[in-house]
Amino acid sequence: MQIEIYKTACSSCGGTFYELDGALDNCPHCNAETDEATTNDTLTATVEIDWRTGVVTIKQDN
Ligand SMILES: [Zn+2]
Repeated sequence: MQIEIYKTACSSCGGTFYELDGALDNCPHCNAETDEATTNDTLTATVEIDWRTGVVTIKQDN
């Protein structure tokens, strides 16, 4: 199973941050609202589960 991570630049402070599924309402650097933030890049990670133990591992793909 793959999850997407959005690399985003804040339009207020220019800081870069990463979010899953648009979960962040405010920039973690300056606390400005992220409505106007621009997504620069999308990273993906793969979620794997060990079917016998239930241990979940997440491996970043790029
Ligand atoms: Zn900011």
